[in-house]
Parts: sequence; C-alpha cells; structure tokens
Amino acid sequence: MHLTDIIAHKTNYYLTLEEKYGAHNYHPLPVVLQKGEGVYVWDVNEKKYYDFLSGYSAVNQGHCHPRIINALVKQAQKLTLTSRAFYNNLLGEYEAYITAYFGYDKVLPMNTGVEAVETALKLCRKWGYAVKGIRENDAKIIVCSGNFHGRTTSVISFSTDPASTKQFGPFTPGFSVIPYSNIAALEQALADKNVAGFLVEPVQGEAGVEVPHEQYLAKAKALCAKNNVLFIADEIQTGLCRTGKMLCCDHENVRPDILMLGKALSGGTLPVSAVLADDEVMLTIKPGEHGSTYGGNPLACAVAIESLKVLKDENMAENAERMGIVLREALQKINTPFIHSIRGKGLLNAIVIKHNDEDAAWKLCLELMKNGLLAKPTHGDKIRFAPPLIIAEEQVLECVGIIEKSLEVLY
Ligand code: PLP
Repeated sequence: MHLTDIIAHKTNYYLTLEEKYGAHNYHPLPVVLQKGEGVYVWDVNEKKYYDFLSGYSAVNQGHCHPRIINALVKQAQKLTLTSRAFYNNLLGEYEAYITAYFGYDKVLPMNTGVEAVETALKLCRKWGYAVKGIRENDAKIIVCSGNFHGRTTSVISFSTDPASTKQFGPFTPGFSVIPYSNIAALEQALADKNVAGFLVEPVQGEAGVEVPHEQYLAKAKALCAKNNVLFIADEIQTGLCRTGKMLCCDHENVRPDILMLGKALSGGTLPVSAVLADDEVMLTIKPGEHGSTYGGNPLACAVAIESLKVLKDENMAENAERMGIVLREALQKINTPFIHSIRGKGLLNAIVIKHNDEDAAWKLCLELMKNGLLAKPTHGDKIRFAPPLIIAEEQVLECVGIIEKSLEVLY
C-alpha cells in the first residue's frame, strides 16, 4: 500500500464507524483528530493543523491548557460529583469567584450552553410574573431573527432557521421574533406590556458572525430599562475574551440583566455553563423549581475557576483584540475574486465566499484542511475563522498564507 492509501485507510476506519453507529446529525470535515495543544491539533496520521474553530469558541484558552488540565486532574482525584442534595466545598467558592469576576449578586450553574439559555428563559418568565406583575402564562420574550441559542425544543421554538425547526413542532409559545440589529423594531415590540425580556447574541456567531451596528446593544439595553424589560445576553460564544473584551457587551459598556456563559468556561474540557443575575431576578426561583444533577459539581467548579483565571492572567482579551485586527487586515490584502466580505470582532471572524458553485465554501475548507488549517462553513457561503486566543502574530500571518494559497482551488 502507498503512504496516501494507508493514511486514507486509517481515516476511513473512523469515518465508517461513526457513519454506521452514530446518528447522522452532523456533517463534519473528513479529519479525525487525536491530539490538541495550544493552537494546534493532530489527526490520527500525526498531521498537524491550526484549529480555526476552537470547538465553536469553547477552546479559547487553547487545547489542553496545562493549568486547566492540572486543575481538572487534581480535582478529579478528589471529588467529582455530589449532586445538589448536599453541599460541596467548591461550589460556594466558585460562586463567590464568578460573581465578583462579572459583578453580579448571584450565579446559577448549569452544564451545556442551551441549559443556560433554558434557565435564563425560565428566570425571565418567573421575574415577569413575580416582580413585573404580568398575568400568569401571558409573558413574552423578544428574540432576533437569525438567532442560535441551542437545540432544545423550547429554544428551537423561536429559531428562524428551517433546518432547526422542520418537523420538530409543535413549538413552545411566548416568543416574538424581530429583525436583528434593528432598534426601531425593538422599540415597537416593547410597546407590548406583556414583554418580560429581550434575548440577544451580541454578535450572531452561528448565523455567520453577524456584527450588529454600533451602539445597537447600548440602545437596546436603554430601551429595555425604560420599559422594565430584562436585557438577556447570550455570551456563550461571544463571551470570555473571544471578541477582544471579557464580554462582547463590554464594547458598549452594557451590563446585561441576565448573562449567560458556557463553552470556554471550562476551556474545552467538560460542559460548564452559568447564568448570572442580581437578587431581584435570581431569587424568584425557589428550592425545587429548577436544577440539574451535574450543575455546580466540584469538578466543574475547580475547572471554571482556573479557566477564568487563565483568561485574565494571560491577557487573552487584549491578544484577541490585537490578533483580530492583524487577521482582518491581512485577509483584506489577499487579491482574490472569491472573498465577498470579511467581518468580525476580536478573534470571532468570518469570510463570505462569492462563487457560482454553491459548494465553494465547503471545497475551500477541504483545501484548507489539506494545507493544515481547520475551519468549517456555516450557512453555505460563510467560513468562520476563530482560532484559540493565544495565537501569536506570526502564526496568524502563516494562517493567512494558507488561506491565500487555498483560495487558488476555487479557480
Ligand atoms: N448560545 C450560543 C450563542 C451558541 O453559540 C451556542 C452553541 O453554539 C449555544 C447557545 C448552545 O450551546 P451548547 O451547544 O453548549 O448547548
């Protein structure tokens, strides 16, 4: 067998296993990874790649960050799960740490991102009835078109993407959809006195890195405050330094009434999410009304504290801001007819491909893979470029070189 055949054979073995035994709910690039370190990952054939997806921004701190792994291993050898039937000696410390870190009265710990979103929706409704005085079952939450907040039945109920909703109904009522980055539409929707909250992504990641117009978040927050409506920020993808600030809302000095975090809260090691709010909101939920077996487990607490410390100790927000500028400027200089636009904030970026072939973005990603860079198309013609936040300038420039070379495949 030739070397190329051996390589293909090994990769195909894993692809075939997943094809045969796994649900077909994803469409991955045909690369099988076995190792990660910092900005790099390696496949089963020892080929090395730049990771330009970072686990959809879960691996902001870089793969297998030594401090995070150390915290994980140390705690895993001591105590991993107690459930919330009992106290554990790390939950309180974590709660004190994360609330001080972000400046909120309280936190509610969950696991996946979508659980944090579900929690925020329940908190918002509860506050709407218990504090704002909306008649029970009449509360509405405003959301934006193009949103992505996860995959549970309630959360897809207000998705505008047919791939998320088709044949998954009936849906949970109580949500009104308005256009994203449109203040006039928000103002109009807020005229309804039954509105309890406005749920928004500060940049829409899954939609293809849609950056709203300047001051959108600040104006939306002011309108919510004026109408006694909670401003609920989903920073699960945009938060934790990804866009060049600790939170994307920090770019406009906006403090959400409810803040959701996930993904990089564990540096890509295990599902850890959090909902932060002040007492007026958080204390509306009483014992027995919400929870999760794994939420607030000691392993997650130890890992989350270290993941947050690493972000600050290694100045990841500043690096994301600087490297984002380097990346976008270098991409702008590429002389190609195939890039329609380049957009982003910090290290959450995307290019939009212009081509007659509707599979061009996928083909480009296959070529990038061949040339040692992993990125994935979203919504057909957009490719997200979101490397770990520890990437250095020469690495960014090397990656732009790979992108430039790979674009040749589209001629
Ligand atoms: N919210 C946003 C903005 C996301 O990008 C995602 C995942 O991509 C989620 C929520 C859901 O997170 P999870 O996949 O951990 O449930």
